[in-house]
Amino acid sequence: MSLLVVGTVAYDSVSTKSGHRQNAPGGSAFYFSISSSFFAKTSLIGVVGTDYSEKYFSMLKKSGVNIDGLEKINGETFRWSGKYHDDDFNQRETLATHLNVLENFNPILNNSHQESKYLFLANIDPKIQTQVLDQMKNKPKMVALDTMNFWIDDHQDNLSSVIENVDIIFMDETEIKSFTKKDNIITAAQFVRDLGPRIVIVKKGEHGSIMFNEGDIFNAPAFPIEQVIDPTGAGDCFAGGFMGYLSGCDDISPQSLRKALISASVMGSFAVEGFSTEKLSKITHMDIEDRFRGLHGMTNFDPLKNNESLPKRVS
Ligand code: AMP
Repeated sequence: MSLLVVGTVAYDSVSTKSGHRQNAPGGSAFYFSISSSFFAKTSLIGVVGTDYSEKYFSMLKKSGVNIDGLEKINGETFRWSGKYHDDDFNQRETLATHLNVLENFNPILNNSHQESKYLFLANIDPKIQTQVLDQMKNKPKMVALDTMNFWIDDHQDNLSSVIENVDIIFMDETEIKSFTKKDNIITAAQFVRDLGPRIVIVKKGEHGSIMFNEGDIFNAPAFPIEQVIDPTGAGDCFAGGFMGYLSGCDDISPQSLRKALISASVMGSFAVEGFSTEKLSKITHMDIEDRFRGLHGMTNFDPLKNNESLPKRVS
């Protein structure tokens, strides 16, 4: 089924204890679509400047991403730079965000974009997320949204109004706590669900993720990784795995949502194993399935049988 993403396409400059990359390809829609394309045909809506290298257009095309909606306009491409804490990859400092061409971006969707059944509003200005959502012809089967502190802190009203109209929201633990001003993720998720989204997914980095779906709570572990190189884009690849899985099988049942969350974990785990998309560009669909099976093996245990109980101390 058709999957559409709107988000940033960027030049990222990133430092981690493993090294540094200057002006590497990145951006929320870039990462998302590279990841989701392993599962389903994905179309990207975004903007870059005249400085954007042809080789990254080719990279997207080679991954099977439809880039008819990736505009090139006068000006410089969106730029982001960040640095990760040497002892804790969950701590990231944004050094600079230059919106550049993003400031003048008015996305125009063509007919086929407007009919997409699955829509992902990746991390970008909530005004742009709304512009895309408003152009959809019929309500898509599933609309999901991701954001980050940059928009939560200074664009809360615009963000809240788009959140009301989506089915799924992805936030990390810090973001959801800051957005809701609650310090517990269960109460924070309930607060967000009361705003509109049926499903709230809270990402907890190496500690996995938790999905709140009406009365159902599902915990997905992160796939254990020996050496994290660069966590940039892990959240976008995670969402790409989730939405790619759903749209690839066109099934939004509770069991399918759980498998989508495991696919998300798997894609996030590949993203952190290299700078930019250095690792993702080397993996195959079989590698993804191996990790999917691996996660099942690591987490599955027998349920208590009807007449079985847990051992109990006899005093
Ligand atoms: P993640 O590590 O999943 O949070 O995603 C990082 C990606 O988001 C990088 O590739 C950045 O280019 C992009 N990014 C950083 N800041 C923003 C922002 N304010 N809005 C949209 N995308 C951003």
